[in-house]
Amino acid sequence: MKACLLGPPAPVERSPLDFTDVPDPQPAADEVLVRVAACGVCRTDLHVVEGELPPRKQPVIPGHQAVGRIEKVGAEVATLGIGDRVGVPWLHRTDGVCQYCRAGRENLCDNATFTGYVVDGGYAEYIVAPAKFVYPIPPALTDEQAAPLLCAGIIGFRSLRLSGIEPGGRLGFYGFGAAAHVAIQVARHWKAEVYAMTRDVRHQRLAIEMGAVWAGAASAEPPVKLDAAIIFAPAGELVPAALKALKKGGTVTLAGIHMSPIPSMDYGLLYQERVLRSVANNTRQDGEDFMHLAAAIPVRTETEVFALQDANRALNALKNDAIRGAAVLRVPS
Ligand SMILES: [Zn+2]
Ligand SMILES: [Zn+2]
Repeated sequence: MKACLLGPPAPVERSPLDFTDVPDPQPAADEVLVRVAACGVCRTDLHVVEGELPPRKQPVIPGHQAVGRIEKVGAEVATLGIGDRVGVPWLHRTDGVCQYCRAGRENLCDNATFTGYVVDGGYAEYIVAPAKFVYPIPPALTDEQAAPLLCAGIIGFRSLRLSGIEPGGRLGFYGFGAAAHVAIQVARHWKAEVYAMTRDVRHQRLAIEMGAVWAGAASAEPPVKLDAAIIFAPAGELVPAALKALKKGGTVTLAGIHMSPIPSMDYGLLYQERVLRSVANNTRQDGEDFMHLAAAIPVRTETEVFALQDANRALNALKNDAIRGAAVLRVPS
């Protein structure tokens, strides 16, 4: 099959992904083989490709937001069949037995493996994944619409949940890329007011178009105090700015897997029971809840579509804030 293969990580300007032929993957007994139709491009892919996340497999096929139809099922798979349309997300597999899995917190599993990082991902014509870790895709969503929901959507949703935002609450978004442009639709569905702080004026404009009540520069102070804030941008210097914008008792949630160092700051920014917390991965329950909600709202994703062989170009555009909404790779059938 054709795939985009990453050897040693390198700045994306040097086009580290090689569009090449690799052997077709074969599903294990509890796995399905999916013919990829579309794969979302996530900032985590950029962190993998550029080496901000230390390599776990080399070479590796990145991508963890793959949508397609099942072409083969392993001998033990009873819940899914050939032709079913599914999404393959970041959480590839958990051990099911560690203290976190047993406590219903499989997102924190000690032995989790991750798609497009620890195992090969969806920047390819085919991908294999455990049947129990893929999501059926609601018919209302096209392949390209659904792909960015698998990570950007689900992580945004988990971030919203952990932010503790309530109906009518005031919520700040720092960064307005793929995850935020989906999360704003959920937040508005929950009747929250969204304030968007983002460095790119095109992203500020998109935020307003999508119903933000106010948009400003990356560390601009919003005109009101916020009940909660979510930082989507991987920039640690936004943490003091977000805490400063927060009401007493509010929460700043960090949605990313990687962030530049957080500057030292005055305790006064955190005092008064403000909370600073990160989000790591998601549980399958988050994913199922979100996919149902996304179909019900319904969530509309803004996508910029690239051909599979143009993955380097898509990642470059993402790095330079040049994507409106989410980038998606289309895989020819
Ligand atoms: Zn576990
Ligand atoms: Zn992701």
